[in-house]
Amino acid sequence: MNMALWLERIGRADPSRVALAQGSYRATYGELAELTARRAGALQLRYGIKAGDRIAIIAENDVRYFKAFYAIWHAGACAVPINAKLHGREIAYILEQSGARLAIVSQAMESVVAEFAPASLERMIVLRTKEWGELTTSDPVPVAPVSQDDLAWLFYTSGTTGRPKGAMLSHGNLAACSFSYAMEQNPSGYTGAILHAAPMSHGSGLYMMAHVMGGGINVIPESGHFDADEILNLLPQWPGLSMFAAPTMIKRLTASGVNAGGQFGTIVWGGAPMYVADSLAAIERFGPVFGQLYGQGESPMTITRLTRDEIAAAHGAEREYLLGTAGRAFASMECAILDQDDKPVAAGEMGEICARGPAVMRGYWNNEKASADTLRNGWLHTGDVGTIDARGFLTLKDRSKDLVISGGSNIYPREIEEVLLRHPKVREVSVIGRPDPEWGEIVVAYVVGEVSAVELDALCLSELARFKRPKHYIAIDALPKNNYGKVLKTELRTMDAAGRQA
Ligand code: AMP
Repeated sequence: MNMALWLERIGRADPSRVALAQGSYRATYGELAELTARRAGALQLRYGIKAGDRIAIIAENDVRYFKAFYAIWHAGACAVPINAKLHGREIAYILEQSGARLAIVSQAMESVVAEFAPASLERMIVLRTKEWGELTTSDPVPVAPVSQDDLAWLFYTSGTTGRPKGAMLSHGNLAACSFSYAMEQNPSGYTGAILHAAPMSHGSGLYMMAHVMGGGINVIPESGHFDADEILNLLPQWPGLSMFAAPTMIKRLTASGVNAGGQFGTIVWGGAPMYVADSLAAIERFGPVFGQLYGQGESPMTITRLTRDEIAAAHGAEREYLLGTAGRAFASMECAILDQDDKPVAAGEMGEICARGPAVMRGYWNNEKASADTLRNGWLHTGDVGTIDARGFLTLKDRSKDLVISGGSNIYPREIEEVLLRHPKVREVSVIGRPDPEWGEIVVAYVVGEVSAVELDALCLSELARFKRPKHYIAIDALPKNNYGKVLKTELRTMDAAGRQA
């Protein structure tokens, strides 16, 4: 079943229903279904797009992001959404690795993509240009038939090896993710409005389809990004507005001055741990409108959940306990803690968090080794460490050891270390996350070598997305290591914490 069918069906059944909004712009299901069929026609007939071809989207949040997704699916192709905050070189790697034939690019990203585009990319279609506008002059084509295992979305996640890997998400995976959200996260609200304040290339975009399934409205902030005041000002216009938010965003909403108690629909947070005190403060401010998800690109938005109703019904110590967990497995999913031999551990014991069920990816694009390793013995091995209590509630204890999550974005230290090591004066380097009240964690680099922070920062700026740059560069005589010469990051983190207290 093609994900584009949900849009097409409501377009026929209830054409005047509003589907999409940004500022004063509105589009109905009828218009969108018609124009999507034409854009898909242009992709197939003018650009020669065939079933399974990959088409990248590199843009900030915008109504055209939504339109691009649906045109790609309608044509039977696979979307490759790329975070617009990445460095040109990082974007180029994903374009090349995915073998994307076309890239749909915002005007702001045009020069970056043009500078770094690999030879494999046949063409860029720039949003808001004549070329983009003319896609709708093609004849409409029917929704391309796909099987539930056909690819809909290559979701690029940073790998511990430093290179991003494309999690292959099928139409069936996206449907499973949408059903789970509609059943267990926002049961009465998925027919209403959802705000995309978080990147549509990531988690927020994954909630787009459930709101199309329910005939709801996808609202994009006029600014195209997260701005607490803008969101709170949108509430009178969209009462009961739902959204996905990273913990950092919820903290900012709580800290902002506008009073919006009881006006939100459901706010689902996830993607990074949230301190219990911050959750309680947010509930105090906005009422019990919050739910939590635990998932990853490899099982998008869907492994465990703590529902809004569960949080609302719990009080005192029980509420605090629940908020410290990531909830229980979604109905369609299994979540287990496995030991090194993939055997389940006893309740309360620590091990690797593993998942299986209809949301789990089909593997990594063109990376058989990583696919086999991550999906071994029928389980998705998340790389996260945690426990499940006797009642079935999951608690994350640690992440795949090295991963830093800053403002909800995953940052793999190895990627930054590799860049810093290119500097001729850097002898050794180790990057860690330091707990931070605003960002969750910030990136800190420990460096052996006679080199200034200014030089290192310039190097990172030329190679990496800005959000991955270390906030601090600390000179050190020698890194703590074990007998095999492996850097002891845990010890480094302890030293870092002690250094700040000293
Ligand atoms: P991504 O693939 O970018 O969506 O990142 C997924 C990772 O974010 C997971 O493997 C976890 O380490 C972390 N994560 C996701 N949800 C939660 C949550 N609710 N609490 C704590 N960490 C989370």
